[in-house]
Amino acid sequence: MSPVWTVTGLLTGVLLSPVLRGQMFLHSVPNGEPWRTRCQSCDHRIRFIRWNARCSSCGIRIGPPPVTVELVTGAVLALLIWRVNDPLALAALVWIALVGVVLAFVDFSVHRLPDRLTLPAFAGAAVFFAAANLAHFAWALLGSLALSGLYLVLALANPAGMGLGDVKLALSLGLALGWFGWLAVVYGAASGFLLSGIFAAAMLLSGKLTRKDSIPHGPFMLLGTLAAITWLT
Ligand SMILES: [Zn+2]
Repeated sequence: MSPVWTVTGLLTGVLLSPVLRGQMFLHSVPNGEPWRTRCQSCDHRIRFIRWNARCSSCGIRIGPPPVTVELVTGAVLALLIWRVNDPLALAALVWIALVGVVLAFVDFSVHRLPDRLTLPAFAGAAVFFAAANLAHFAWALLGSLALSGLYLVLALANPAGMGLGDVKLALSLGLALGWFGWLAVVYGAASGFLLSGIFAAAMLLSGKLTRKDSIPHGPFMLLGTLAAITWLT
């Protein structure tokens, strides 16, 4: 990877992270509860959170640990900038990645993938992909339908294991993978299941999880997609 791209990706990640952390804070609430807008400790209105993960008013720790969001976002953006040349396709993927980082942290924290994030992720990416190449976009759309169709079948077969949030996330991930062809859709889906399986096995073996617990699948779907795109481009 050229150092220029690495630095560009990392800097963009660090610059955008206060917004991403703000969105994570807003959306990290259990199903059925209103979105969070204020610090639980001092009632300060929270829109952005700096890298140190503290309320700017009272200093209490909030959200993911310091520097994690910055590093994850920076690394993902650096990878995408390195691998993808078409600027509009890159814009589509960066958009999914930014919303995806928020979704991954929210899913880890409260086991849900809100529509308020999964649906804009798909809509924004669709606009950029369609602008890049309409015929290619039509094929990508088939990938999107195939992947979300697969997750819909899994969610209906075992509602405890997979949720409709995963189905809606698969819309944008299938679109991103479909842009790179069918092989990418297959690799991306398979890597997602493989990574989540490895994580579940590790958690069970280390005793941090029992068989009754469920693990969030969204972060692994996102990671699998990134792996497939990095590998196949
Ligand atoms: Zn506060």
